[in-house]
Amino acid sequence: MFEVAVEHTFAAGHALRHYKGKCENVHGHNYKIRVIVRGEKLDSIGMLMDFVQLKKYLRDTCEPMDHVFLNELPPFDTLNPTAENMAIHIGQSMQALLANNPNPVEVAEVKVWETDIQSATYRPPAYVS
Ligand SMILES: [Zn+2]
Repeated sequence: MFEVAVEHTFAAGHALRHYKGKCENVHGHNYKIRVIVRGEKLDSIGMLMDFVQLKKYLRDTCEPMDHVFLNELPPFDTLNPTAENMAIHIGQSMQALLANNPNPVEVAEVKVWETDIQSATYRPPAYVS
């Protein structure tokens, strides 16, 4: 099993619904996202997948969330914009894009940092063998 990882950062605002505390108020984060992709086999030139392509997929996935109020952006207009829900949303979006990769790969982990000292991680079940 091989794994490769890329990271991306963006800034966004949110307010947690059904939460009593400071985070129910509108505030922002400089989010850091790390996606780990895994697969069994390398391609003909010895790569699991091209970092350039993987970074593009993560950038494209995060672009709609950059400098917006997340609570107004689907799916977070109904889904609470917690770090956990952002992690699964990014994981599912990335998995759909990875289906285009000629070498079979899948999302192994998505980690969303809201600050340097707090993060949430989503690990999906295996999609491919
Ligand atoms: Zn927050």
